[in-house]
Amino acid sequence: MTGINHANGRSDGRPALTIYLASPRGFCAGVDRAIQIVELALEKFGAPVYVRHAIVHNRYVVETLRAKGAVFVEELDEIPDTEAPIVFSAHGVPKAVPEAAQNRDMFVLDATCPLVSKVHIEAERLYEDGAEILLVGHAGHPEVIGTTGQLPPGAVHLIETIGDAQAFTPKDPGRLAVITQTTLSVDDTKEIMDVLRERFPNIAVPRKDDICYATTNRQDAVKRIAAKCDRMIVVGSPNSSNSLRLVEVAERAGCPRAMLMERAAEIDWSVFDGVGRLGITAGASAPEVLVDDIIDAFRRRFDVHVETVTTAEENISFKLPRPLRDVPAA
Ligand code: SF4
Repeated sequence: MTGINHANGRSDGRPALTIYLASPRGFCAGVDRAIQIVELALEKFGAPVYVRHAIVHNRYVVETLRAKGAVFVEELDEIPDTEAPIVFSAHGVPKAVPEAAQNRDMFVLDATCPLVSKVHIEAERLYEDGAEILLVGHAGHPEVIGTTGQLPPGAVHLIETIGDAQAFTPKDPGRLAVITQTTLSVDDTKEIMDVLRERFPNIAVPRKDDICYATTNRQDAVKRIAAKCDRMIVVGSPNSSNSLRLVEVAERAGCPRAMLMERAAEIDWSVFDGVGRLGITAGASAPEVLVDDIIDAFRRRFDVHVETVTTAEENISFKLPRPLRDVPAA
């Protein structure tokens, strides 16, 4: 099918393409807050502002903040003695990190997402109650490192797969509790939880899922459009857990091919030959400007009709740290 020039009713030669734009997509409240913390700190205190780890897992966001004066480090040791603010990333940090910062009298602004902090508090409460704790998540992800690091070494057992859930041997099945990473696949996690519940009927599970509202909503929106899309683009960086999950969710929900994309320049046009229906979504750390650029790139080659498919409205926002509340938002 080719595009119709509606002014004269003639085809202009470009093939027609319907883009199903998933909503909600892109920035969640935790990411929005974390980026604001760095921006407002730069505004109030000037450069440099040190940031421990990528503030959120998106290259464009990191590069933009770096250009404004943020200095990204992986560990506090890399930061000289300074009065400049040190921001902890949205993923959270092990307890040892704020302790080390305090020992060095550092000025910390904590951008840990409040929904990650909630899991930290839950882990501590369960541990104090004497529970043996399982954490469903991905090894090496900074959120998992941060959550595990709320408790003494060995107190948290990581469960990555159904196989791990089937193989785990508790000290006392009557004192077992489970928490999860916030950015997992809702469906995969349910399968793991089902195995754990079946094996350990008394296991304590979170009252409300630890997978956050933003992860859940973005996966639901993808599921709604996936089956009618020939291709799906998930805008996000390869280190973004929730973006990677959206690719998996799209393919499982019926889209023949879903792919992660950081920016429009990466588009391999051969993949879109003959495609009439394209889904687009964005991970929770991907800015909308990247989505716009990708849609614009498609407009140059296709006669594009965009249909937004909304499955939830989001109106959540989180308070800024006290030292930044007096800075007018840009
Ligand atoms: Fe917070 Fe969820 Fe966003 Fe992570 S994805 S920053 S947990 S709201």
